[in-house]
Amino acid sequence: MSECIYCKSTDLKKDLLVTTQARAQGVARPMVGPIYKKPEKDFLGISEIGVEPIFTEICNQCGGVRLYIKNVKRDWEEYNEKR
Ligand SMILES: [Zn+2]
Repeated sequence: MSECIYCKSTDLKKDLLVTTQARAQGVARPMVGPIYKKPEKDFLGISEIGVEPIFTEICNQCGGVRLYIKNVKRDWEEYNEKR
């Protein structure tokens, strides 16, 4: 059983997806998360990119929030202003 990284409480709500409030019927919610390069390339030989979803764990005692991702084996794309 995991515990709060701040107060050590085990009263946690886990696996909540971090997203934006914007939500329209039939339209996917914009993803929030780090960008990674997919293994497959497009016709120009450029890697397509994906967004790794961020999850959060909220402590019901102190309100502490921990962020995490589930797939850590990605080819992360570092921030580049030109993209
Ligand atoms: Zn806590």
